[in-house]
Amino acid sequence: LDFLTKADPTVSGMLQKELQRQREHLELIASENFTSPAVMAAQGSVLTNKYAEGLPGKRYYGGCEFIDQVEQLAIDRAKELFGAASANVQPHSGAQANFAVFLTLLNPGDKIMGMDLSHGGHLTHGSPVNVSGKWFEAVHYGVNQETEQLDYDEILELARKEQPKLIICGYSAYPRIINFEKFRAIADEVGAYLLADIAHIAGLVASGHHPNPVPHCDVVTTTTHKTLRGPRGGLILTRDPELGKKLNKSVFPGTQGGPLEHVIAGKAVAFGEALTPDFKAYSGQVIENAQAMAKQLQSRGIKVVSGGTENHLLLADMRSVKLTGKQADQLVSEINITANKNTVPFDPESPFVTSGIRLGSPAMTTRGFGTKEFTEIANIIADRLQNPEDEQVKQACKQRVETLCKQFPLYPHLNMPVPA
Ligand code: PLP
Repeated sequence: LDFLTKADPTVSGMLQKELQRQREHLELIASENFTSPAVMAAQGSVLTNKYAEGLPGKRYYGGCEFIDQVEQLAIDRAKELFGAASANVQPHSGAQANFAVFLTLLNPGDKIMGMDLSHGGHLTHGSPVNVSGKWFEAVHYGVNQETEQLDYDEILELARKEQPKLIICGYSAYPRIINFEKFRAIADEVGAYLLADIAHIAGLVASGHHPNPVPHCDVVTTTTHKTLRGPRGGLILTRDPELGKKLNKSVFPGTQGGPLEHVIAGKAVAFGEALTPDFKAYSGQVIENAQAMAKQLQSRGIKVVSGGTENHLLLADMRSVKLTGKQADQLVSEINITANKNTVPFDPESPFVTSGIRLGSPAMTTRGFGTKEFTEIANIIADRLQNPEDEQVKQACKQRVETLCKQFPLYPHLNMPVPA
């Protein structure tokens, strides 16, 4: 960072402000985390200088002997972590990983079936604004209105009616365990491919805290930067080595050019970390913390969608405090809590307004927070949302956020000057 401060104080100043923001805010965005200094070091390395189109041992550029070692290590660790026969570590993002799968399994016009965006699905699962909804015929399932959870009989019924070529499971805002065996049975019954997009829960899967989709699905995609706590990026896994070869071709040259080998080095480091007992303990704590937060919000009269959580996130229904998601998001952001507004199932509000907020535990668990701190977070949120006009409560909540953040310093080794 000293180099940067000397060479470009403008950019350096912006980075310092972002570091300060991360240090002083409670980060509850369910898709974010804090990578280790080792992951960041790998990403900020000389590997950013290298072109390496192709795969380890089969490159279109010279000088790849060490790059090959790095990428092969990332592949081997990913395979070990998820019990996969084949892994491609090159996708630049989760969206890129999904796109490469579509290129492999589908032709334009084919029918795909994923979860409705407003029920917790992702844009890349057939939204009309995404290529997945523009180039394919997308149909959607949702959660059951009463339980707010997946209803496998309803999904089977829809699959029978629609006969999709690909079924997608795995979500951005679903707080419950996914039964991949049941999805496999549904896919088999209608002759569909099955893709699990475990972008959100990958860390929980890797650590054994959520069932593993790899044995049941044709393809599994994920991001590497959420619960898995690696660098921003994507990953494609499969149990089928022959399909793995096709997927590799769909990443390069199908949809990408040169891989980001510095990011792949970061992935190798993160996968190494995820193989340790420390990571297993971390993932278990992530779930306990989300459950403690859900329980306390409920005890304060705030409705939690589906009645709780079994993973790293929860959806709080803001109609229980007579607010919209947009208002709640603004209210908590004023006391330095970062969350996001989110639709709840069957939401009467638009996606821009919404009736909910999504709260996640991965990032603050990395900072060392336990159930005591997450119970306090729930109390701070409840105090703020139940007294939106009270300036004294607002200031007291802000102070409590500051106290929590100071107790668990973020990146203490990063000794950046505090920006003016
Ligand atoms: N799939 C799911 C389920 C996600 O939640 C996300 C990101 O939030 C993605 C895919 C896309 O990942 P990226 O933002 O890396 O493209």
